[in-house]
Order: sequence, then C-alpha cells, then structure tokens
Amino acid sequence: LSSKLDVSAFVEGILAKVQARDPEQKEFLQAVEEVLLSLKPVLAKHPEYCAVLERMCEPERQIMFRVPWLDDAGNIRVNRGYRVQFSSAIGPYKGGLRFHPTVSLSVIKFLGFEQCFKNALTTLPMGGGKGGTDFDPKGKSDNEVMRFCQSFMTELHRHIGSTTDVPAGDIGVGGREIGFLYGQYKRLQNEFTGVLTGKAMEWGGSNIRPEATGYGAVYFGLEILQDKGEDIKGKRCFISGSGNVAQYAAEKLIQLGAVVLTLSDSTGYVYEEDGFTMEQLKQVMEIKNVKRASLKEYSSPTGVYVAGQRCWNVDDKAHIALPCATQNEIEYEDAVKLVNKGVAMVLEGANMPSTNDAIAHFHKCGVVLAAAKACNAGGVAVSGLEMAQNACMSTWSSEQVDERLKVIMHDIFAASSGASKEYGVTLQEGANIAGFEKIAKAMIAQGCV
Ligand code: GLU
Repeated sequence: LSSKLDVSAFVEGILAKVQARDPEQKEFLQAVEEVLLSLKPVLAKHPEYCAVLERMCEPERQIMFRVPWLDDAGNIRVNRGYRVQFSSAIGPYKGGLRFHPTVSLSVIKFLGFEQCFKNALTTLPMGGGKGGTDFDPKGKSDNEVMRFCQSFMTELHRHIGSTTDVPAGDIGVGGREIGFLYGQYKRLQNEFTGVLTGKAMEWGGSNIRPEATGYGAVYFGLEILQDKGEDIKGKRCFISGSGNVAQYAAEKLIQLGAVVLTLSDSTGYVYEEDGFTMEQLKQVMEIKNVKRASLKEYSSPTGVYVAGQRCWNVDDKAHIALPCATQNEIEYEDAVKLVNKGVAMVLEGANMPSTNDAIAHFHKCGVVLAAAKACNAGGVAVSGLEMAQNACMSTWSSEQVDERLKVIMHDIFAASSGASKEYGVTLQEGANIAGFEKIAKAMIAQGCV
C-alpha cells in the first residue's frame, strides 16, 4: 500500500512540474495527464521506470520557424511552422505534419507525445515526432499551397532525414502537399530517399498507405469483437469526419457488411438511415478529395444533411462510434448521448478525440474504448513499411502490405489487452502501459540522455 501511495505522489509531482513549465498548453497537459495517471500500476510494479517519466514529458527538441509565402495577389503572407522531435529512444523521429488554423505548440506537443506511444505499439523501430503550421490550405489555390509547402520545407529540410526524422501527412496534408514538400526537399538535398512517407506510388510510396489508418482502425475493432465472439456484420456505426481516416474506415466497414450511418465535416453531417452504399461513399470522396468542397454538396434521395451539428446528435441508435475528425470532438455531453444511443464500442480514428471526462464516462458505462494510439496506429505502421521499402529500394504488393497491417493491428491488440489483463485495467490503459514499457526499457538501457 505504501508503495502505491508513493507512486501516486510521484506521478502527481511530475504532473505538477509539467504543468508549471507550460501552464497554457491545455491539449498537451490533457494528453500527459491521461497517460501518466494510467501508468501508476506499472510504476508500482517497476519502480525503476520512474526515472524516465519526467524526460518522457519533455521533447528532445522543439523547432519553431517563420514561413513566408507569396499569395496569388502578390502579397507576402507569414505563418508559423513547427517540428517537435519528441523521442528518439526506439528509432528515428516519426510522425505527421498538420496544416490547420488551430495548430499551436500545445497541439503539436500533444500529438508528438501521443505519437511516441503509438509508434512504440506498432512493433516497428520508430521514435515520435510531429509538426505542422497554422496555415489553412482551405480556400487556397494549388499554386499558393505549392509556394507555402516549398517555403515550409526550405526551413524544415535541415532538421529531417531518412534516418533522423521522417514526417508524413495529418489533417490538411495529403498527397498533394506531400508531393510539393518532397519536390522541394529533393531540390535542396539532392537525394532521393524515404525522408517523407505518404508519397505517391510512382515515386516511392507504399501500397495501402492512404487506406491504412481507416482500415487499421476497423481491423482493431474486429480484434475486439472476435475476442468477445461477436461479428461486425450488421453493426450500426456513427462515423465523424470525412477525410482520409473516415473515408477508408467507412469503406472497410461497408465491405465487411457493417452499416455506416453518418459522415461529417466542420460544416455539419450527412445521415443515411440505411447506411451509405459504396457509390454514395464514392460521392463523398469526390466532394472532399477532388472538389475540395463541403458536405453541403452531398445529394442522395435518402440522405439528410444537417448543418452546424456534430453527428453524435443524430436521432438513431448504433453499436459503434468512430470519431475520425479531430481532438476533443467527443465531450462529456456527447459521451452521455452516445451511451444513450446504445454505443458499446468507440474506435478512435482521430488523435485524442475524447476528452478525459468523456473517457471516464465511457468506462463507467462499460463501453470498450479503443484508444487512438492503438486503434489509429495502422497509418504510421504502414509509413514504417514505406520506410522499409524505400530503404531496400523495393515495392511490396497491396496484398503483402495489407497482410502485414492486419498482423500489426493484431499484435497491438494483443499487447494492449495483455497489459490490461496483467494490471487489471481497461484496454485503453493497457495500450498506454504497453507503449510506455517499450520506451522506458530503451531509455534506461541508453543512460541519462
Ligand atoms: N498523422 C498520422 C498519425 O497521427 C500518421 C503519421 C505518419 O505516418 O508518420 O499517426
């Protein structure tokens, strides 16, 4: 008992220090609090891990830089760029770039912190990092996006490399942006290496990388259902978001005979009471990926578009919720609504989509919560496979990559549920513990660095 009390006091002490260092970074503090509190049982069993905890909450390096660019009207515009190299304990820094007006140092630090544990869970040797900018690609011309990406890479290139730090996409960064960023990197460094992932197939990309995050989240859900002896067929699902993660989660669910009731974006949501068909999903992909427009444009005889609301408000019942939009999109009130609508499983496609109050409510009501760092790790896992293919100058087939993705999602589930059983905690806390143990062992072996 006394050692348990000591561990509680120790964790609270570290939390207080982290809080005092950056009191205004609310997203980062939220992520740190969620992880640290869940580590108490493993720290009680392995007190030697306490030595790494404070270092784990402080990035190894934080880079902030000016990004000047010329808009189509000839004005010089300025945005702020970030790259946070959080942990290289188990491999080169790895994690996406987010282009969105809400990006701040706090947001990039929370994403980088989460990425460390996520990457550890993938079973591949990748450290954690994240970057981005408050530039909003929405409403910008292709030429403006290109000039922005070139300017962003002009500074970033000196900090990254195929064995140092390997960025990829995230919100606002898809194939178009990765292309412009990669072109500028090559021009500056005169080398063709796997310095970015999410590249197109013709120039070093991996099969299944666009699909990987969404497919992986569904494969993780299948593992949970299989464990309980349940089938995915006929399961009704609310999906939020309509970007890369939501699109391919929906595609895989429809292929497997589940019923996808909603998709959403920042303007509102679409509801199909009998579930989206593949053709209707194609229409959403066209609107989002080609027209770069909002879901307002969606039209079908059966579909309803509701403006200005989160899809959790839809008047229907479902078994599974897949938040695939952004952080804190499920607040406490939303969690209450979802439980009342019958949701028994939450598959987190986005990073930190549930607030800590929402997580507590799900657990109180017996909802199985698949934490983002486990459930959406398929994206970065296939990024790791892209790095492996680049390193050996080779390309694997879609079938090969999809098979490896399934094995990785199985292994992540096995590690998370194994830790949850060993320590008598939830699956979500088990994921934190399994990721943490791998990094802690590496840090201890490498000494005081
Ligand atoms: N942005 C994705 C994530 O949150 C993918 C990162 C990557 O592929 O490096 O995990």
